[in-house]
Amino acid sequence: MTKTDKSGNQDAAAFVSGPSDTDAWAAARKLIDAPNGALNIAYEAVDRHVLGGYGATTAIRFLGKDGSRQEFTYLELSETSAKFANILLAHGLEAGDAVFSLLGRCPEVYVAALGTLKAGLVFTPLFAAFGPEPIRTRMEIGDAKVLITTAQLYHRKIAKWRSEFPTLKLVLITGEAAPEGCLALDQQMATASPDFDTVKTRPEDPALVHFTSGTTGKPKGVVHVHNAVVYHTFSGRHALDLTPGVIYWCTADPGWVTGTSYGIIAPLANRATMIVDEAEFDLDRWYGIVAREQVEVWYSAPTAIRMMMRAGAEAAKRYDFSSLRFLASVGEPLNPEAVIWSEQVFGQPFHDNWWQTETGGIMIANCPRTMVKPGSMGKPMPGIEAGIVEHHGARIRELGTGEIGELALRPGWPSMMRGYLHEQARYDKCFKDGWYLSGDLATRDKDGYFWFVGRADDLIKTSGHLVGPFEVESALIEHDAVAEAGVIGLPDETAGEIIKAYVTLNPEFEPSEDLERYIRGHARKRLGPAVAPREVIFRNTLPKTRSGKIMRRLLKARELGLPEGDISTLETDET
Ligand code: ATP
Ligand code: MG
Repeated sequence: MTKTDKSGNQDAAAFVSGPSDTDAWAAARKLIDAPNGALNIAYEAVDRHVLGGYGATTAIRFLGKDGSRQEFTYLELSETSAKFANILLAHGLEAGDAVFSLLGRCPEVYVAALGTLKAGLVFTPLFAAFGPEPIRTRMEIGDAKVLITTAQLYHRKIAKWRSEFPTLKLVLITGEAAPEGCLALDQQMATASPDFDTVKTRPEDPALVHFTSGTTGKPKGVVHVHNAVVYHTFSGRHALDLTPGVIYWCTADPGWVTGTSYGIIAPLANRATMIVDEAEFDLDRWYGIVAREQVEVWYSAPTAIRMMMRAGAEAAKRYDFSSLRFLASVGEPLNPEAVIWSEQVFGQPFHDNWWQTETGGIMIANCPRTMVKPGSMGKPMPGIEAGIVEHHGARIRELGTGEIGELALRPGWPSMMRGYLHEQARYDKCFKDGWYLSGDLATRDKDGYFWFVGRADDLIKTSGHLVGPFEVESALIEHDAVAEAGVIGLPDETAGEIIKAYVTLNPEFEPSEDLERYIRGHARKRLGPAVAPREVIFRNTLPKTRSGKIMRRLLKARELGLPEGDISTLETDET
């Protein structure tokens, strides 16, 4: 099959010919094994490679905060995860039981994820930085039966309410001695057998629950099934160029979906060698890792890229980035400025791609070897049909080129969510007239490229114009002084809404009235007076989720003195 798919990507069309086929994903399924119709993510990610003779290949290289390095081969990962699976089943856990992790980026998270999946249980990773309440709420929603964490995190965040959570059967502690009522993982591992027959889960068996970032409100628990591995493998290959042996670094924490779909499953299923860094962002550390580890494919996020830009191109000059062959970004819109900057500094542009916790995998992408239009999310992946739509009662109407509407997808790809935990009505509302509705607004240009406009909740209506915050923010960060920008609309009697911007400055700039005027002037020139912000406020930081997304709803609530809503995922807080 060599026909060109809708996105014009011939290479990918060889794998998936489009949703109109009777079984559009049959070809993608050839990338995995699925022996005898059973499908288990962990089998596809590790066991399969061991059976295929690649046990000695490095699967994960851990870089500790303290400078340590630890390598796990595919065989070691297969055996340690088998031990973990044995431990779970020895404690009487049953198919579908939920295993939560609350850990930093350490080897145990990866072992626990794969071991849980091998055992046919459901894995939910949580950010270690969450406070006790957000952890408890999520564990209640997910009906956690097992928690794996450290003694320190246990004492600080779990111990107080543990007795009120009787359904939590097992708490495993990494590293140090286990507190009362918990078991030391190392001790358990020391006696567990490395032999385990990976449970023959069915494609539709639940595998993962991920909580959304909470950017727009209360986080939802999104259910994914083992079948998702078909799409992870396929999209890892086509959107991120993951090929066997490639040195790959996904900077996302497994606490959010990117860190699992493309920080565990896709790279392992494609037999890559993954870099995992335990430390938080630090410019020299990151540049050093890329250069020293010879990273070839790098998947990161706009918030980190903007931090690199803030440090300036000079800071990058000391490093050799010649190993890099593909750079990608997700999580927030990637400003055109960032695409151009990265091409100059790394010799490669960051390739933006768009997806959600709900979609489980990359839906719209600037794939390797395709032309990048800076500021565009790219084109729908092969096999994915995306549309720009508007609602007409129960019907959905597709909009034409250049029109702003809701970004919608035709359901049916393998990694699509199968539900929001305990929120059936909310889940049902995502589907209408044969479409999955993303809640994001976008436009499509004449060449089929998609351009992000904003989240439906963030759209601003000013003097008869519909304005997406992204457009205004991108124009603002083109100004030399501006590092980051968050833009909101505020009610106004004459204009409907007026636009207000919050910005952080690059290191060499100080807030002043003059600077505020210059920035507004720059925005007026770029965007015209109707769309330029009426006011620019300087801030040291912007409120962000722990996954690095600007929380515009919080800027707005604070401005209007309204309740802040769910702020369990808030990272930076400066009012
Ligand atoms: P919540 O649903 O709880 O409000 P969230 O939507 O931020 O949180 P995620 O599923 O982590 O939770 O993020 C998906 C959203 O992130 C998308 O719907 C979109 O708004 C934004 N996003 C992701 N990638 C991109 C991108 N490349 N360009 C623009 N926006 C993006
Ligand atoms: Mg969302």
